[in-house]
Amino acid sequence: MDLTYTPEEEDFRARLREWLAKALPELPARPDPLDWPGRRAYDLGWQRRLYDAGYGSLHWDAPPALRLIFLEETELAGAPYVGANFVGLLHAGPTIAAEGTDEQRARWLPPILRGEAVWCQGFSEPDAGSDLAALRTRAVRDGDDYVITGQKTWTSHAEIADWCELLVRTDPEAPRHRGISWLAMPMDAPGITVRPLRTLAGPAEFAEVFLDEVRVPVANRVGAEHDGWRVTMVTLSFERGTAFVGEVVACRRTLGGLARTARANGRWDDPVLRRRLGRLNAEFTALWRLIQWNVGAGGEAGGAPGAGGSVFKLRYSQARQELYDAAAEVLGASGALDADQEWTAARLSSLSYTIAAGTSQIQRNIIAERILGLPKGR
Ligand SMILES: Cc1cc2nc3c(=O)[nH]c(=O)nc-3n(C[C@H](O)[C@H](O)[C@H](O)COP(=O)(O)OP(=O)(O)OC[C@H]3O[C@@H](n4cnc5c(N)ncnc54)[C@H](O)[C@@H]3O)c2cc1C
Repeated sequence: MDLTYTPEEEDFRARLREWLAKALPELPARPDPLDWPGRRAYDLGWQRRLYDAGYGSLHWDAPPALRLIFLEETELAGAPYVGANFVGLLHAGPTIAAEGTDEQRARWLPPILRGEAVWCQGFSEPDAGSDLAALRTRAVRDGDDYVITGQKTWTSHAEIADWCELLVRTDPEAPRHRGISWLAMPMDAPGITVRPLRTLAGPAEFAEVFLDEVRVPVANRVGAEHDGWRVTMVTLSFERGTAFVGEVVACRRTLGGLARTARANGRWDDPVLRRRLGRLNAEFTALWRLIQWNVGAGGEAGGAPGAGGSVFKLRYSQARQELYDAAAEVLGASGALDADQEWTAARLSSLSYTIAAGTSQIQRNIIAERILGLPKGR
């Protein structure tokens, strides 16, 4: 199915394009990838501009076709992506909108939309990644507070975050999925130590977060006590939503650029490389059609809902790795080591896509069990 846009949707696209053409040249220079305070200011500043122009809450309240147009046009125009606003806009915000009280929505949502607050995600622990329900960070009730002790890891943007969506164990005696609660933790609370983790890719995107008797008000719990696993499933259902749309657009653009480079530098004469780029083109075209089909069928502006999202995530994350492997071949050793290291960084970071938001093995388990009806692995 090809998505046919209505005249109103095409009008939205035209107005957005016009606005982007004016707004983007006014943006300050992108900060150095290692300058985290600078990146925070840049990403929040962009969100503020979107908010002032009426595009700030598009991820939450616009029909899927408008979200798709927004993500496609912003990517094609080279606009900044959500960056440090990722968890606030795409995880915590929608979760609070769906599961929070009126008071919680009024307190936490407007600062996210106005570009005033950065959120991070404190889910994974050293022994609880794929098996998230094994998490052990403990929250003990003391009057109107929880007192929290434990450790989180791989917490993206923890260093510059104001808030953390935190999973804690509130009932250690209950079956493991039933003793968890979802809390909003202020990152300036006493007892929090953030230790950045430098990776192969360079910038310390993640951190370990140590919690030593951190007091968080009970009023900061979203959802009922011990019902955090259900709330977490709401959060994770947003994770595979719109996140990949702009990236698929970007990958298609990168692939087109590689084909042009290969023609210019003589590598196009290699039939194996041509076949490789052709197969990638087919792959990304199919992923883009799937996104459009999903919106045309009245679904989300992301890969696909439910277990179908796992098929999308599995294929997309692998195709992205193959794209940057192919880029290394087209550019050769000297081209890949470009002065600003952009290709190198993109290739290294492509490795993380088959791990973040559920590893490829976990996606295959979901596909095997929920789509193919095979017996559970364990
Ligand atoms: C770029 C990036 C950003 C991230 N940001 C955050 C963040 O902000 N907040 C946060 O909380 N976490 C974050 N994470 C962590 C991420 O959620 C975990 O890395 C992921 O869930 C895998 O967990 P793990 O690293 O502990 O690996 P493990 O779960 O230990 O897995 C190790 C290996 O075993 C395999 N495996 C595990 N269980 C099974 C099984 N049942 N069947 C088959 N194979 C299995 C896995 O596929 C993997 O290959 C981020 C990760 C990345 C890469």
